[in-house]
Amino acid sequence: MSNTAALLARRERLLGKNMSLFYSDPVHIIRGEGVWLFDADGRRYLDCYNNVPHVGHCHPRVVEAITRQASTLNTHTRYLHEGILDYVERLTATFDPSLDTAILTCTGSEANDIALRMAQAVTGKTGVIATDHTYHGNTASVSQLSTRMPPVGGFGGHVRHVPAPDSYRPLGGVSGEAFSIAFAAEVEKAIAELQKSPFGFSALIIDPFFANEGFPDLPEGFLDRTVAAVRKAGGVVIADEVQPGFGRTGGHMWGHQKAGITPDIVTLGKPMGNGHPIGGVVAGSDALNAFRKAFRYFNTFGGNPVSCAAAMAVLDVIEDEKLVDNAREVGAYSKAGIDRLRHKHAIIGDVRGSGLFFGAELVLDRGNKTPAAELATKVINDMRERGVLMGKLGIHQCATKIRPPMPFSKENADLMLSTLDDVLSGL
Ligand code: PMP
Repeated sequence: MSNTAALLARRERLLGKNMSLFYSDPVHIIRGEGVWLFDADGRRYLDCYNNVPHVGHCHPRVVEAITRQASTLNTHTRYLHEGILDYVERLTATFDPSLDTAILTCTGSEANDIALRMAQAVTGKTGVIATDHTYHGNTASVSQLSTRMPPVGGFGGHVRHVPAPDSYRPLGGVSGEAFSIAFAAEVEKAIAELQKSPFGFSALIIDPFFANEGFPDLPEGFLDRTVAAVRKAGGVVIADEVQPGFGRTGGHMWGHQKAGITPDIVTLGKPMGNGHPIGGVVAGSDALNAFRKAFRYFNTFGGNPVSCAAAMAVLDVIEDEKLVDNAREVGAYSKAGIDRLRHKHAIIGDVRGSGLFFGAELVLDRGNKTPAAELATKVINDMRERGVLMGKLGIHQCATKIRPPMPFSKENADLMLSTLDDVLSGL
């Protein structure tokens, strides 16, 4: 039995079946550094996928901060400690002044779970609206928002799904302002339905970049009407920043800032601790205190001294290495490179994204925009064979997902682009 086969068998025996893995030939990674990953045979891969090691795999400043704090103190969160205060002060300073308090968690799922309850504490209602191709996490309550996996306990009657915005195939074929009106109309319809139900309308939860939905290119002000409709109905807007947060989309620290909206509640995760598990909810003090009063929430690990040291180091590196600007510059360079490939390869139907989150939607024919989901899987596997790791996602599962660690350089982009060119030429 090969080493890979033996590991797969052991994994299934110990961790159970149906644990998802990337690539038909799974990669056995043993080390990471910057934008590079190394497998057990010493082969190097360019990481164009991972947003968790946000400032680069094993960034020495994050490693040092974790090591220093872990060798000084780590404990639960029921003692006074400056680490969490210094971090929340620094974090909230990057938001609109109305978002000035936070609860720290260990995962994005927990953060969204809290956000839903916070919305309930504020509005007294439980009805929630999400898009039909989203993912907001794995707890019993947030899994009910996601259509991608069977939700725990089925969809509650309190959840309404609206069609995810798709700039390549917009609702009714409309674009520009009409597209934004069409999306807001769907949300208004869902609000009206919830208001007639026993649940009432509590919140709209969206990723302002719609990352899992395939990161559509949306017109400026796309969400303005939707946000106004939510507020008019007495609901709150929850922005899930697990994917677009911490400068990923380039030029802005937060996806909602890029979208030009100010949410009532923001949730954070993945990139926050560069791989150390930390997430959070940022909100105004009224909402946060309403939640604490209603639910008496406690989290043993969320915001412990080591997590806060890791997260603080991430903010330091983002700032000192100017990674938000890098995301904008290298992202634009890479996207332009993929756009050039579009002229050469008919399979590329659309190129979109922002900052260091971009990709191409692959289609069988441009006229009908027929999704090329199987070929997208082949492209991802062929890229892996050539040492470049990326993924795919979107409504039709045919958009390449390129979302590398933030120190990704133009040189890295050139390697990714020439490899993609080769792979597409070989289809
Ligand atoms: N929200 C979004 C938008 C996500 O993509 C994810 C994870 N992929 C989550 C929430 C859940 O985060 P976690 O896995 O840390 O619980």
